[in-house]
Amino acid sequence: MSRPFELDPLFRALTVLPGVGPRNAKLLEKLVGGPKVLDLLWHLPIDFVDRRFAPTIKDAPDGKVATLTVTVGKHIPNQRKGQPYKVWCTDETGTINLVFFHAHKDYLEKQLPLNETVIVSGRIEYYQGNPQMTHPDAIGPEKDRASIETVEPVYPLTQGVTNKVVRKSIKAALGFVQELPEWLDSAYKERQKWPDWHKAAEEIHNPPGEEALDAHHPARARLAYDELLANQLTLAIVRQKQRQINGRSFQSGHDLRKKVLEVLPFQLTGAQERSLQEIDKDMAEPARMLRLLQGDVGSGKTIVACLAMLNAIENGAQAAIMAPTEILARQHAESLKPWLDAAGIRFVTLTGRDKGKTRETLLQQIHNGAAQIIIGTHAIFQEGVEFDDLGMAVIDEQHRFGVHQRLELSSKGKGVDILVMTATPIPRTLALSAYGDMDISRLDEKPPGRKPIDTRLIPIEKIDPMIEGLRRQIETGARIYWVCPLVEESEKLDLAAAEERYDILKRLFGAKGEERVGLIHGRMKPTEKDEAMRKFAGGETDILVATTVIEVGVNVPEATIMVIEHAERFGLSQLHQLRGRVGRSGDQSYCFLVYSGPLGETAKERLSIMRETEDGFLIAEKDLQLRGSGDILGVRQSGMAEFKLANLSVHGELLAAARDDARLIIDRDPELKGPRSEALRTLLYLFERDQAIQNLRSG
Ligand code: ADP
Ligand code: MG
Repeated sequence: MSRPFELDPLFRALTVLPGVGPRNAKLLEKLVGGPKVLDLLWHLPIDFVDRRFAPTIKDAPDGKVATLTVTVGKHIPNQRKGQPYKVWCTDETGTINLVFFHAHKDYLEKQLPLNETVIVSGRIEYYQGNPQMTHPDAIGPEKDRASIETVEPVYPLTQGVTNKVVRKSIKAALGFVQELPEWLDSAYKERQKWPDWHKAAEEIHNPPGEEALDAHHPARARLAYDELLANQLTLAIVRQKQRQINGRSFQSGHDLRKKVLEVLPFQLTGAQERSLQEIDKDMAEPARMLRLLQGDVGSGKTIVACLAMLNAIENGAQAAIMAPTEILARQHAESLKPWLDAAGIRFVTLTGRDKGKTRETLLQQIHNGAAQIIIGTHAIFQEGVEFDDLGMAVIDEQHRFGVHQRLELSSKGKGVDILVMTATPIPRTLALSAYGDMDISRLDEKPPGRKPIDTRLIPIEKIDPMIEGLRRQIETGARIYWVCPLVEESEKLDLAAAEERYDILKRLFGAKGEERVGLIHGRMKPTEKDEAMRKFAGGETDILVATTVIEVGVNVPEATIMVIEHAERFGLSQLHQLRGRVGRSGDQSYCFLVYSGPLGETAKERLSIMRETEDGFLIAEKDLQLRGSGDILGVRQSGMAEFKLANLSVHGELLAAARDDARLIIDRDPELKGPRSEALRTLLYLFERDQAIQNLRSG
């Protein structure tokens, strides 16, 4: 089946719409973000003007939009250029001037014929005690009353496109909408009191009242749900397809695991145990594992990944762990080393930096199976790397690993079990929209013995006493991260700010400052970054001044103080991620949020949330509320779905329902052949999920 013919009109170019020429089509395309009739249809109003208010002239209040029925009394053309052209009108209660700048006399005389009754709609303003209406939004003869006295949608606009043009085009686009087969579960639809799709599309642009702006209005909610269902259905199909590739059954590796647990200086937390059990169960099943391990920085994901990889090793397969950056790959190697050594496991580290002979040797070890665990960057999945028998892959994603990459990776090994780790405590709703194809384990419990981080808000004026305090802390062995702000998204300025702070701190710490203060930023070579990180981790430097590049996962437990300058410029998730770099040992840690006022409402709220809680999941939920889904740190990079009709900060419940619906549909009818299937396929085409349908077909 290809795209159903009912949808064809919606997929045509905007120029097919009456009144839309190539020039307008270009402008509209820019405005709505796509060249199709459908893209225009999804351009939703942000406000409504109620033109049903039809008072007499006397009762039309200043500043309000009104629709008046008046008789044209006199045309008063402007005497000079720059003066307005006025048309004097009356009704039985009073008089009003219609005011036009840059008027065309002929046109106005046709629109407003002398002594005729006309309908005019627009904003009333009082000028020197008299009512007037400048450039009415609508003018028409009495017979047009019904089409003027409406609730008129107001659309987001761009330069060169007026609301009138958008309205007219959308009106035309609505003419292309046809009745579609119903893909919703009928009981659910009835319970929600939702309209049919074509009615919802119509209503959202031509609402009976202003309440249609509400995200929970039936028409809006229905269209949002449709979009979410298409998203979740796609993920359910991907999931099903991925699980179909013969997985392997790996029984939990008790011997190796025991050896590692014996050398572990701590007990696993309840959350770690639970997650591991979930992973073991997945791996033991013949279906492939597709699991997301979600845990805040410092929640102890690494050991969980390590123990999970042992399952594959014990069954004679290889395992790989991929980090987003060089530094993190090396850090993983360092953390894993004592554990792997204890279990007698051979591992190699491969990154893009390994060249020539070294690389050859590593590749050989990976190919012939000498290497049981491969640690590295994305280099390990690049061309030329062949595994002997890869059974499991751990991806430490740090927001950079979307659904496409997940699919790509699956093509590398046969039925490789996949564990994705993310340090972003993504709110449930967002996790569903981006990872609905995966199962989720949450590390929602910090390893014990960590003291809460003492978080303080410091106005920039008080930075000197704070630095004095830091100096004393350093004398007792403290190590400090000092993060410098984002300056207008410009890396160059960022750097300048960081370098300036670096110089100041060096001077403040006197003769020894030269050695005691380090600097790390995005423009440094990887080797230089490593060097700066290494010095800080090893205690050669006490302060590390950084732009936001410092890697999220870098673990320096001895660092107990985090200073964030211009904290008001950072997002909540970002602040949380940064703060998570301290508080990793038993010692008391501090976070100083240095801000410069005056603070806006949102900034104030962000900072006070930071002071109140360290719960990443709670912070993420707040962040979602404060900023809307699109802005959550890293959401864009991760290829997380962006929605046109749904808004995850308000439609979270619909998303959960869509997920359940989608999984049920695919569980019952994996190839989408049943009774609802044709309608569901139409839905997928409507939301341009053609890829998902391809997957169905080849599956
Ligand atoms: P994440 O990768 O989730 O940010 P890590 O795996 O790097 O966190 O763990 C952070 C620190 O906590 C490491 O030093 C690790 O050894 C330690 N750790 C992990 N689990 C526990 C535990 N159950 N009890 C005590 N310390 C732990
Ligand atoms: Mg980590």
